[in-house]
Formats: sequence, C-alpha cells, structure tokens
Amino acid sequence: MKVIEAKKGNIFRILSEAISEGIIIVNEKQEIVASNEAADKMFGYEARELIGQPLNVLIPHDFKSSHHVHAREFMKQSEPRKMGHGRDLYGRRKDNTIFPVEAGLNPFSTGGSRYVMTLITDISVRKEQEEEIKNLNYQLEQKIEERTVALQESVLELKAEITKRKEAEKRISEALKKERELGELKTKFLSLVSHEFKTPLSGILTSATLVSKYTESHQQPQREKHLHIIKSKVKYLDNILNDFLSLERLDTGKTVFRFDTFPLSRVMNEVLYNANMLLKEGQHIVYPDNIDDIFIYFDEKIMELSLSNLVNNAVKYSPENTVIKVVVILEEENILIKIIDQGMGIPEAEQKHIFDRYFRAENALLTQGTGIGLNIVKSYMDALGGSISFESTENKGSTFTLTIPNK
Ligand code: ADP
Repeated sequence: MKVIEAKKGNIFRILSEAISEGIIIVNEKQEIVASNEAADKMFGYEARELIGQPLNVLIPHDFKSSHHVHAREFMKQSEPRKMGHGRDLYGRRKDNTIFPVEAGLNPFSTGGSRYVMTLITDISVRKEQEEEIKNLNYQLEQKIEERTVALQESVLELKAEITKRKEAEKRISEALKKERELGELKTKFLSLVSHEFKTPLSGILTSATLVSKYTESHQQPQREKHLHIIKSKVKYLDNILNDFLSLERLDTGKTVFRFDTFPLSRVMNEVLYNANMLLKEGQHIVYPDNIDDIFIYFDEKIMELSLSNLVNNAVKYSPENTVIKVVVILEEENILIKIIDQGMGIPEAEQKHIFDRYFRAENALLTQGTGIGLNIVKSYMDALGGSISFESTENKGSTFTLTIPNK
C-alpha cells in the first residue's frame, strides 16, 4: 500500500496487497492518499497514479453531487458502515466505463487527521449473474403465464367437448330408447298377430266355407249372415293394423297432422256405418240428431280414427240387445262428443290405468283386444289440443267424451 502520511510498515502493506478487494483511503478533502493494487487494477490506473487525485475521478458523473453530500456527512461520523444502503453503487474507470461496486467505509484518525478507508468490491460478475437470474425468472414467469393461458384454453375446450359428448350421448341413448320401444312394439305386434289374428281369421275361414255350402236360393239369409261375419272380422283386423300404424308413427315422430274445416256429419256417418258391421245381435246405435250444421276445425283423419275407436269399444264391450248412443253437445268453447254404452263398464280400481299403452281391464280379458286404442286417442288429443275423459260403472256402462275446441 502506498501510504503518504501513515508509515505502517511492511505487514500492513503485505496485508493490503494480498486481499482481493480494492482499498482506497481519502483524507478530509476527499483526496486519495492511498490505494492498493486491487483498487488500481479495478479502476484501470497505474500504480500510484491515483495518489493525490480527488475521489471524484472514481465516481460516475451522474452520482457525483449526491456522493459529495454523503461523503461530507460520513466524514463527521466515526462508525464503519456499508455504502449505498439499498441503492446500486457504481465506480468509474480511467477509460470512463462504469461498473457496479459494493463499498464499505471505515473512518479512522491518525496524526491528528481524519481519513476514510473504503473497501471496494467489483460486483460486475455478480450483477450479471443476478441480471441473468432475473431474466431467467422473467422468462420462466412468461412461460408459466403462457402455459396457464394455454391450459385454461384447453380446459375450456375440454369442457365444451364434454358438453358436446354428453349431448351426443343423450341423443344416442334417446335414439336407443326409441329403437328399443320400436323393437318392443314389433315384438308385441308379432305376438299379437299370432294370437289376435288367429280367431278372426279362422272365423272368416269358417264363414267363407259355409257360404259356399248355401247354394239354394232360399238360403240367402244364411249367406248374408256369414258375409256379415266375414266383413266385421276383416274390419276388426283392419282396425288393429291401423292402430299399430298410428302407434309406430307416433313413436317415430312421423305423424303429420293436417288441420282442416269439415262437417262433423261426414266423419260421424263414416264411423257409424263401419261400426254397424260390428254390431252384435240386437245392438243398435242411436245417431246424434243435431249435427248437420256443425263444422269442426281439426284433423279429419284423426277425428275419424278416435271416434271409431270409442264407438267400436262401446260395441265390443256391450252385450247383445243394448243401445249405443252418440250425443253431440255444442258449447261456446268446445264441441263435446259422447259415446254412451250399457256395457260391462270398467272396474273402478283399474280406471286410472285405462289410457296406459297395452292396458286391458280384468273384466275385458275374454274379449279380443290389444290395449292400444285408448292410448293412441289420448296421444292424438294431447297433441292436437283436444281431450278425452270417461265415466264408467262396472256392469252398468261407460260414457267416453271427446272434447274438441270449437273454432
Ligand atoms: P282394446 O279395446 O283393444 O283392449 P283399448 O285401448 O281400446 O284397447 O281399451 C283399453 C281397455 O279399456 C280395454 O281393454 C277395456 O278394458 C277398457 N275399455 C275401453 N272401452 C271400454 C268400454 N266402452 N267399456 C268397458 N271397457 C272399456
């Protein structure tokens, strides 16, 4: 160490030259009075070149003024301390380049004068590393942010995909359900064809065979009787087939409704004409007598199918020698069509099931039937804004009522 005033001897010099930090000693006038080799090298000076120069030469221009104040303040104190205190400190080399430093100040007095010894460390490398770490951290944060955004997007996409799949699953399971129901319907139809069709078909066969035997002209009444049986049984089979077709169309959503205005009498005549073919011995139908001027805005085919289902049931579930009455009541809002029979009626306990598909009451099981007619009529009425209701007493009779909006 090149000391001007203090002659501290060899040990001190060896010590100061051995350490890697720079040492700068300034007097009260802020003049450099001593520097070690590390300090000279750090600031780019030759040995002894700094001696006598103001401390300012080692301080970047930007920091000079504030440094001056700090230094003066500091000279008044006598405690060693670190410089900077949270601020970045910089040194200025001889070639005016600037580098970051860390400095510790140690004031001391000797020979009646005050000095400050400054220990300086070049922290360029450490700063660079810090900077690099900061950069890396920043990049990392950026990446994490990008990934988070990407992840959120993926999560959203996934959610949308899950919703789509759930919807597709729902559609498929509905389609499967429909498919199963149709399968069931077809199975039911097959077993029905084999059971329900057998009796009427063998009846038709018997009547047809007998008709061929009545060859004499006076046997015309017998011939007619058997032709009537054949007609009614064919009509019965035709009704069953129509019901199944309706059911299939309802289930597959293929029913097309056609609204139109038509005279009620047209449908009524058609239905009652066909029902006459099914009448038992001594049964007769009482026609409604006030319907000539009534026009209905409804689906005519559906009206016909519904009415004939109800009239045919009245015939089927009533014994011989009874009356089936059809009554039409014109109200302001609705047209009521009532089919009143004096038949077996529906047991009270079973009445709540009467519109269920395939349901047949206990007392009706000896009569041929499929249990789908009322279910279809109810579906049609629900779909078209009409309704169906009934009242029934076992062994007394039933009244089924169709309510059609009067438009
Ligand atoms: P199906 O007559 O082919 O059995 P429906 O759906 O038309 O089928 O009728 C369902 C059930 O309702 C019948 O099996 C019968 O038990 C009862 N039912 C319907 N109409 C009458 C009626 N007019 N009198 C007594 N019971 C009836």
